[in-house]
Amino acid sequence: MPKELNFLSQLTGSFSQSAAGNPTVAMIEAAYHHHGLDWRYINCEVSPEKLGDAVRGARAMGWAGFNCSLPHKVTVIEHLDGVGESAAIMRAVNCAVRRGNQYIGENTDGKGFLMSLEGIVDPRGKRIVLFGAGGAARAIGVELALAGAFSISVVNRTAGRGMELVRLINDKTSAKAELISWQNKYKVQPDAGIVINATSIGLYPHVHDRLDLDIESLKPSMVVADVIPNPPRTHLIKDAEARGCTIVDGLGMLVNQGVIGIKYWTGVDADATVMRRKLEEIYREQ
Ligand code: NDP
Repeated sequence: MPKELNFLSQLTGSFSQSAAGNPTVAMIEAAYHHHGLDWRYINCEVSPEKLGDAVRGARAMGWAGFNCSLPHKVTVIEHLDGVGESAAIMRAVNCAVRRGNQYIGENTDGKGFLMSLEGIVDPRGKRIVLFGAGGAARAIGVELALAGAFSISVVNRTAGRGMELVRLINDKTSAKAELISWQNKYKVQPDAGIVINATSIGLYPHVHDRLDLDIESLKPSMVVADVIPNPPRTHLIKDAEARGCTIVDGLGMLVNQGVIGIKYWTGVDADATVMRRKLEEIYREQ
């Protein structure tokens, strides 16, 4: 029997500005290819004024879902039909998922981070030090709090932004959050279990920038994580490794949020090693 031909791929993608430097498309399409899925992921340059049109376009074309990166993570919510639990607390969405006729907004940033910690450390009951209070820190802080972290010390340069995150965690979760104004070299308390850089310090091309942190205060019992995906081996990661800490790099978060997005859209558990390999290849060639 001749097979029926089908040239209609399932569509997913990303809306951001600027979109050109975003490697997610390469990582997701590597997974689609590996799993033999006739799915595409299209990286789209979308300005804030055109975001509504882009979402309407995705609806019209029957996209299974899409990622939203900067600057759309908050404003996209008004174009969606609902949001998941943690996205509602964070008031930020980076992944829209078609469920029936509706697009529901999820946030896979924090979930991806959490997944990259899995198997290394359970955040339940842990004292966390979180550098930063921007979008990434918000997603990570809320997700760790929902996962049962005991306390979160938010260390941020700008008090106002730091306080917003502290209030969010204290009001919406059972974790205890406090703000530490980051003006001088920060000394990590010896009882901290997990130390996380969720600032943009160290991101390419500023690869020589370092956190204002007393490296001697890092203990071998601590897990030290960095959200910076490029380069994956930041100064913090190297310093923490030299101090005997267990490390988690930013590629883990990026890969795992892709794994979660693919699961939401296609139902398939994507192979994280294939996706990580693709990103490593890209960053090596840079
Ligand atoms: P935001 O701009 O929202 O926040 C940046 C944060 O970094 C703020 O807390 C800011 O402090 C702090 N910061 C920046 N420069 C300095 C400095 N010189 N000294 C002290 N603090 C500083 O960015 P995002 O939260 O969206 O992103 C942060 C990083 O996370 C980015 O580098 C991004 O690449 C990475 N990321 C990684 C992901 C992954 O999958 N691996 C996913 C998402 C993001 P202040 O409030 O004082 O300005």
